[in-house]
Amino acid sequence: MFYQSTRNKNLHLSSAEAISQGISSDGGLFIPSEVPTLTEADLIALQDMSYPEKASFVLSKYLTDFTEAELRYCTEGAYNTKNFDSESIMELAHLFDGRYMLELWHGPTCAFKDMALQILPYLLTVSVKKLGIDKKVVILVATSGDTGKAALEGFKNVEGTSIMVFYPAHGVSAMQKLQMTTQEGSNVSVCAIDGNFDDAQTGVKKIFTDSEVLKKLDDGGMMFSSANSINWGRLVPQIVYYVSSYVELVKDGEIKMGDKLNFCVPTGNFGNILAAYYAKMMGIPVGKLICASNSNNVLTDFIRTGVYDRNRKFYTTISPSMDILISSNIERLLFLLSGGDDEYIRSLYKDLSETGRFEVSDEIKSKLNEIFYADYCTDEETKAQICSIFEKYSYTMDTHTAVASKVYESYVQATGDTTKTVIASTASPYKFSASVLGALGCDADGADEFEMVKLLEEKCGVPAPESLASIKDKTVRFTNTVAPDKMSDAVLDFLF
Ligand SMILES: *Cc1c(COP(=O)(O)O)cnc(C)c1O
Repeated sequence: MFYQSTRNKNLHLSSAEAISQGISSDGGLFIPSEVPTLTEADLIALQDMSYPEKASFVLSKYLTDFTEAELRYCTEGAYNTKNFDSESIMELAHLFDGRYMLELWHGPTCAFKDMALQILPYLLTVSVKKLGIDKKVVILVATSGDTGKAALEGFKNVEGTSIMVFYPAHGVSAMQKLQMTTQEGSNVSVCAIDGNFDDAQTGVKKIFTDSEVLKKLDDGGMMFSSANSINWGRLVPQIVYYVSSYVELVKDGEIKMGDKLNFCVPTGNFGNILAAYYAKMMGIPVGKLICASNSNNVLTDFIRTGVYDRNRKFYTTISPSMDILISSNIERLLFLLSGGDDEYIRSLYKDLSETGRFEVSDEIKSKLNEIFYADYCTDEETKAQICSIFEKYSYTMDTHTAVASKVYESYVQATGDTTKTVIASTASPYKFSASVLGALGCDADGADEFEMVKLLEEKCGVPAPESLASIKDKTVRFTNTVAPDKMSDAVLDFLF
């Protein structure tokens, strides 16, 4: 097994190289040269493993240059009860109507990004060490909210790393801002920028290629890396919980070994659902992969018609982590479905950069329809779904999970398929208290973030995660705001 680029299949990298480089210099994404398989005996053995053991087992199939001890160090460091408020790391809530909620938000920042960003720092530092690179890794992140906090929590106090996060001063929610400005750790920095998310993103990209900054870093024994979802080190840990869901449901007697299971995933950058497709390719008996979007429904159209077209109105929705028009991981999917045709991928992405659109071949269109089902829902439908699931099952969902749950219902109605289905639940409802309270018809006028958390606790009777509730008593450490053209100075001030 080695790693290729989606735009150059002649590359021949180890997983440590792919993870430490993050993205290929030809603009493509790193992808394994083959898909390893899991046998039925493997699935039976996995039933009796702890989550870190399962993670080591699955990761060993992909990170073939890592030793067993290195993988154990990574998975045990990431997946434990110091970082997660659940012994089993992920939880499967049974709604007793053929649907299971795969709760991926029991980590420190209450969003599913913790599942990958808790382990990425370990994978990255081990990779750098294996390659004999004796440098401190500096992670720069531009965030619109969730990724920044999850990356900060993952990298805080990790030896050999520093992390700096830039967020738009007026572009994040009150809770998200507090989560970041009260961040603890000796190797972290957080800075607001006087601009929007695009300004932050552009600024970070500029610093990555600023030769003067790079020289200073190199002289100081440091190098930049990225914690973005294009890094294979963020995708591969996500395969684990799909495998784990299947074996857990078999173990609980909910399904029999060999039975099909559907997965329904609220989708933005297509990372999470791509991990589910990898689980299917590895041999997990998956029926349909249901791709759920909000009003930014570029993926619904793509999967249905084979035309990817980003030339459309951008909507700001109540499920903001899915407000995205360029889904980076589609590139990996197309590489897989085209049989690794790097020339074809280059031509599609040339079209995308020149015209904002591309259309795939009939052969790929039919594969897309065989593997996936896609639909979307509006904010109004999302809120109605939160309310109806709460009334029927006393189960409270956040806005992103509700998009998936609603699309699952549309799927059943459209197809009559009653195969048992796991819905990826990607955030704690307490992270989006205002929208959830509104959906449940509670009056929260004039309440601040913490009062809303309290109101939601009273309404749904489930305690709020300690990590959100305790922010109230934390000290704000980072109050700096800089102009976008002063971001590199802020980085250098932090590092030197
Ligand atoms: C990032 C995110 C998503 C989208 O996941 P992708 O892997 O980008 O498709 C969905 N829900 C929440 C809460 C998120 O933070």
